[in-house]
Amino acid sequence: MVKYCPGDDGPFEDWVERCPECGRRLRAEPPPGPKAARGAPRLDGKIVYLTTISNEPLAQLSADVLRQEGIETMMRASGAGIGAWGSAASLSHDLYVVDSERERAVEILRSLDEEDEEAPDGFGFDSSL
Ligand SMILES: [Zn+2]
Repeated sequence: MVKYCPGDDGPFEDWVERCPECGRRLRAEPPPGPKAARGAPRLDGKIVYLTTISNEPLAQLSADVLRQEGIETMMRASGAGIGAWGSAASLSHDLYVVDSERERAVEILRSLDEEDEEAPDGFGFDSSL
């Protein structure tokens, strides 16, 4: 199940509310026109759940790193049920990637965790140690 931008920016996963390109509400039907006829999905393959990250800035950072590695990454808030009183930044976020890139994405996120542990002075805390 996919949805389409009325401005023909391409198909999107059905949980996407608005087109990230132009901000218009997505429709169930593809727009008419030659571009729709030959338009291929920009995401090749099935989108699968990758991981949940405890806050938005960290989720954004992780998504950026994955994109730099050439892995198309989607992000959405997942914590609204528990922390609806908080700001969006305090909500946990789910990351989604293309199925075929999932293993590589897991490896990249794992290596990020290791780097964080090895470089505590990069963050400027615990300087007394
Ligand atoms: Zn659009």
